[in-house]
Amino acid sequence: MALQEQSLQICPTRIDGSPVLLAHKVDRSRCQDRQRKRYHKCFTCAWNNNYVAAHGEPSQAPEPKPLAAVEEAEVQVSRDLEETVTRVG
Ligand code: SF4
Repeated sequence: MALQEQSLQICPTRIDGSPVLLAHKVDRSRCQDRQRKRYHKCFTCAWNNNYVAAHGEPSQAPEPKPLAAVEEAEVQVSRDLEETVTRVG
């Protein structure tokens, strides 16, 4: 079951990463079948065979940043803002 879950892909997965209103998981054979039948969402999908041939397979989801990295970035923004306010005024 876990192996099957890993081989599923989000249909559609937009090339530009924009969210979709209706998405579901499909296995590769269903994806290929839909592409053969010219499913209307395939043209802008990162799983489209032409796009995969040129760019490789998309990752299923962006890697989440570790919490420490996010907190450090927020602290740096605060420091920059404080420095700017001090300089200006
Ligand atoms: S290529 Fe088409 S069928 Fe395959 S995941 Fe994308 S939209 Fe779905």
